[in-house]
Amino acid sequence: EPAHHRDLASTRHFVGGKVPLGLKRKALRVLVTGGAGFVGSHLVDRLLERGDSVIVVDNLFTGRKDNVVHHFGNPNFEMIRHDVVEPILLEVDQIYHLACPASPVHYKYNPVKTIKTNVVGTLNMLGLAKRINARFLLTSTSEVYGDPLQHPQVETYWGNVNPIGVRSCYDEGKRTAETLTMDYHRGANLEVRIARIFNTYGPRMCIDDGRVVSNFVAQALRKEPLTVYGDGKQTRSFQYVSDLVEGLMKLMEGEHVGPFNLGNPGEFTMLELAKVVQDTIDPNARIEFRQNTQDDPHKRKPDISRAKELLGWEPKIPLREGLPLMVTDFRKRIFGDQDSAAT
Ligand code: NAD
Ligand code: UDP
Ligand code: UDP
Repeated sequence: EPAHHRDLASTRHFVGGKVPLGLKRKALRVLVTGGAGFVGSHLVDRLLERGDSVIVVDNLFTGRKDNVVHHFGNPNFEMIRHDVVEPILLEVDQIYHLACPASPVHYKYNPVKTIKTNVVGTLNMLGLAKRINARFLLTSTSEVYGDPLQHPQVETYWGNVNPIGVRSCYDEGKRTAETLTMDYHRGANLEVRIARIFNTYGPRMCIDDGRVVSNFVAQALRKEPLTVYGDGKQTRSFQYVSDLVEGLMKLMEGEHVGPFNLGNPGEFTMLELAKVVQDTIDPNARIEFRQNTQDDPHKRKPDISRAKELLGWEPKIPLREGLPLMVTDFRKRIFGDQDSAAT
């Protein structure tokens, strides 16, 4: 029996707290906000695969119908075009709350909208969870640590965030979303889970979303120079999307509120990342240095001891294995089907 079925034995969905031996768990109704986006659509695939019904709520700002179109016609799947900044009435057992642009280029595009999505949007989804007594999982971010003064970052670290900078709409927005989540937990007894996600990559990322992995991969494929910002010595830790989805589901089904860092501890400078992209796609790809953006965090690497110990989770796919899987998808989307297999 898959691990997530066993984990469910401890949830309130089974009176008495145990799944009777030999019985399959009850199918759940699950809401995924932001489910037409990069991470959300992979999560939706897994939830449907294990037999749950899924409702996606998405305003399609950075998400695409293409990411979920393979489920259209499945009676267990429904997509609602809706902005989480507006209230909504639904009946579900669990809410994975992902709705929010994740790429700096996208979240800076309309910063007031970003902070409304994080604050009002999260408030609405918490109000919904409270009314229907659903379990609520927030996808927060490593950005709550800001430009960290502790390395690697542990969940107990409170962070070093500029409250008035160009990234604040996102990182302060997510910090407030975490606060709201804990206040509903303490005040309304809501069952909540908080994930702090570190940089994640994989198939279905927006090709021109400005994030470093999607930029480098698209640039190398198009024979354009890889744009390294600043001196390229800043670091990030890159997690393959299937590892993240596994972690999110374990967190939702487990006993612990968190917050939990979900990320791959493998740390790379942007120049090292460029080298991996060159090795994977085109050894002759050139590198071009560009001015860095404001308030760019200098380093980032998760300490995942807590998730390892309490969720029994750790990432399995290193960058050099995950990157080719993403390249296959990007090649197909940039050039059409002619020179690659489907993912
Ligand atoms: P994404 O931009 O691909 O997906 C976000 C989805 O939310 C999109 O489908 C978008 O249309 C939708 N959305 C945005 N604003 C909305 C609104 N107001 N109402 C309804 N839908 C809205 O991003 P992603 O990479 O899939 O990220 C998903 C979540 O994970 C986000 O909350 C993000 O902050 C978090 N996260 C992601 C990463 C990462 O590296 N991918 C890292 C840290 C945190
Ligand atoms: N909300 C929602 N759907 C629901 C229940 C609540 O969208 O099914 C919204 C509601 O409009 C409100 C927010 O969630 O803006 C917070 O709701 P809550 O009941 O916690 O607070 P209150 O409405 O009392 O301010
Ligand atoms: N970056 C880069 N070239 C690019 C895009 C980004 O060197 O084309 C750098 C950026 O300055 C940052 C890192 O890559 O240090 C990660 O940026 P990204 O936007 O992917 O995510 P972040 O972790 O900053 O949210």
